[in-house]
Amino acid sequence: MVQVVWFKRDLRVEDHRPLLEAARAGAVLPLHVVEPAYWRGPDASPRQWRFLRAALTDLRARLAALGAPLVVRVGEVEAVLADLHARHGIARLLSHEETGNLWTFARDRRVGDFCRAHGIPWDEHRQFAVRRGGMNRDGWARFFAATMAGEPLPAPPRLAPTDEPPGDIPGEPLPWTAEDGLRSLQPAGRAEALRLLDGFFAGRGADYRRGMSSPLSAPRACSRLSPHLALGTLSLREVVRRTEDEIRALSAMPPALRPIPVAAAESFLSRLHWHDHFIQKLEAEPELERRSAHPAAEAARVPTAPDDPLLLAWAEGRTGFPFLDACMRSLIATGWLNFRMRAMVQAIASYHLALDWQASGARLARLFVDYEPGIHWPQVQMQSGQTGINTPRIYNPVKQSLDQDPEGVFIARWVPEVAHLPPALRHAPWKAGAYIAPVMDHEAAARAAKARLSAIRREPGFREESRRVYERHGSRARPFDARRPEAPDMPARAPARQLSLGL
Ligand SMILES: Cc1cc2nc3c(=O)[nH]c(=O)nc-3n(C[C@H](O)[C@H](O)[C@H](O)COP(=O)(O)OP(=O)(O)OC[C@H]3O[C@@H](n4cnc5c(N)ncnc54)[C@H](O)[C@@H]3O)c2cc1C
Repeated sequence: MVQVVWFKRDLRVEDHRPLLEAARAGAVLPLHVVEPAYWRGPDASPRQWRFLRAALTDLRARLAALGAPLVVRVGEVEAVLADLHARHGIARLLSHEETGNLWTFARDRRVGDFCRAHGIPWDEHRQFAVRRGGMNRDGWARFFAATMAGEPLPAPPRLAPTDEPPGDIPGEPLPWTAEDGLRSLQPAGRAEALRLLDGFFAGRGADYRRGMSSPLSAPRACSRLSPHLALGTLSLREVVRRTEDEIRALSAMPPALRPIPVAAAESFLSRLHWHDHFIQKLEAEPELERRSAHPAAEAARVPTAPDDPLLLAWAEGRTGFPFLDACMRSLIATGWLNFRMRAMVQAIASYHLALDWQASGARLARLFVDYEPGIHWPQVQMQSGQTGINTPRIYNPVKQSLDQDPEGVFIARWVPEVAHLPPALRHAPWKAGAYIAPVMDHEAAARAAKARLSAIRREPGFREESRRVYERHGSRARPFDARRPEAPDMPARAPARQLSLGL
């Protein structure tokens, strides 16, 4: 009999309770299943597979050093488990809880049915401050602190192996996915994740709070841990505990000797809270991947066809707004974009271009190497005015351009068609009749979006429904105010002078 440890998005040997418990109980078969049906889904992409593949290769070596290399199989999880059960006898299946997309949610239900039918206990362990099916946010901050308390667990000293052959890890790109324009991929694996974390506290994070806003400075100023957290090459608890230690150490140092300001580390820590705060939303309501949080917003949705010319112009960086196009082109080439620009590109798709958030959200999901459904879909909805509890923010693409890239350096790098223009014209080349004609009049489009939002807000019962959304998903950092249901849901700094709607 063997203990099967099913590695999903927790690709590490440290701070891994399922692995530690399995190691104590007997022979361990560490397993990852590459599921073709998942990889054919609308939110999966070759770049995500390339990063995952490298992380699996790293994990295989780390597990082999403990005695039992990672077994990789291609197929449906139930079929793989049935085969292993027939040949070895599975004493127990162990894994971490996963808040994935609707596809993985349905798959986990099928795996649960399989385990029950075969009398195999399935132990699922929590790795985030995310309550299964949790519907009420009261006491969530305490829950986060309690979940992150305690030292991260050590790796098991050794693993008793089985005779199961490890099998090949499929190549890249997967045979059932197409290439997608990626030019450089962030390195994967545990050593790289630790290098990023160390580098951030050793000085790279010094300019975190200011540098995170511009796409020029953010790639260096931000931690860049997101794909590692999405695949669990580091546990969130490891990062939270390290950050708390750093804050204590920095606070004890004379300011001149601090490699990064205390405020930068504190700001980073607050983002680690948001990681779980957002994932909790999708865990509580998995349908948020498909349905708007607020019923009035859902009723007003107009579907967008996957080949809609506006959607394609936006997704491929051909809207005629150089800064917007530069953001999309850099995302296509690198698989990463800073938070502010993710919010802007999503908001422009939903507000100015009136595209359905699900069509644009799926395009972005595929472009993000760090795709994390529990952060992604609630963020897409929030930046698209679908929640009824967040202040809608209609970004001005030209103002963002002037604020975040005043010299047009980022624009020139990614939109060479306008690089010959003087910096002032790179923000609005239509004034010189250069570049492609803009797909919209952005000021008129913003006014139309505001009118659509106002109409939704006038629907009968809007406030009552907002209260329901707040009860389920809202941060308790602020009380619900029925007169202002759309107040900030989290202590995010509002971007100055955007068209923030006093609805
Ligand atoms: C429309 C949209 C979609 C997004 N989709 C994703 C996604 O699929 N995967 C993803 O990891 N992040 C997503 N984000 C959040 C955020 O943009 C990224 O987490 C961040 O840019 C990653 O870079 P970093 O690791 O250097 O971040 P840092 O600033 O160094 O933050 C450290 C970690 O905190 C968490 N974090 C940071 N900002 C947020 C936030 N606003 N909400 C929740 N958690 C946060 C992430 O885990 C991040 O890795 C999305 C944001 C928007 C507006």
